[in-house]
Amino acid sequence: MSDVHLSGGCQCGAVRFHITGNVGTPSICHCRMCQKAHGAPVIGWLTVPDDKLDWTRGAPAAFRSSAEAVRSFCGHCGTPLAFHRDGAAATDIAIAALDEPERSAPVRQYGIEARMSWFDTAHLLPGEVAGACNSSFQHPDHDTADWVPHHV
Ligand SMILES: [Zn+2]
Ligand SMILES: [Zn+2]
Repeated sequence: MSDVHLSGGCQCGAVRFHITGNVGTPSICHCRMCQKAHGAPVIGWLTVPDDKLDWTRGAPAAFRSSAEAVRSFCGHCGTPLAFHRDGAAATDIAIAALDEPERSAPVRQYGIEARMSWFDTAHLLPGEVAGACNSSFQHPDHDTADWVPHHV
């Protein structure tokens, strides 16, 4: 799979994907629907042509969030993974679900009408390192040949 450019998946590891080739336009979205769908104040998206995206383990569950689009997520652990507008030839993949999210730095922002008032100054807040979780069941940030998700 030497032509795989990016890989990623959900937290539990039941759903994994590959993006082939050096493709994709990264952005962030502040819109209220993305906020609610992810339970997060801002969402990073990598827009990938559908023919460059392969679901390589499992398949995401889906929710039709509007008459125009479907959102996909892991049906086991709930990780939001994708957004697809009806009739579009591209899928938005959640940047944070990528194994190497730092490779997709946003170049544009959408939904700025719902941008959190504190967003522009959040980096000024006092910070501390979270550190590694020593008892994590999260799938590692690389493909695995065998993996058993810790479903409850
Ligand atoms: Zn999962
Ligand atoms: Zn949005």
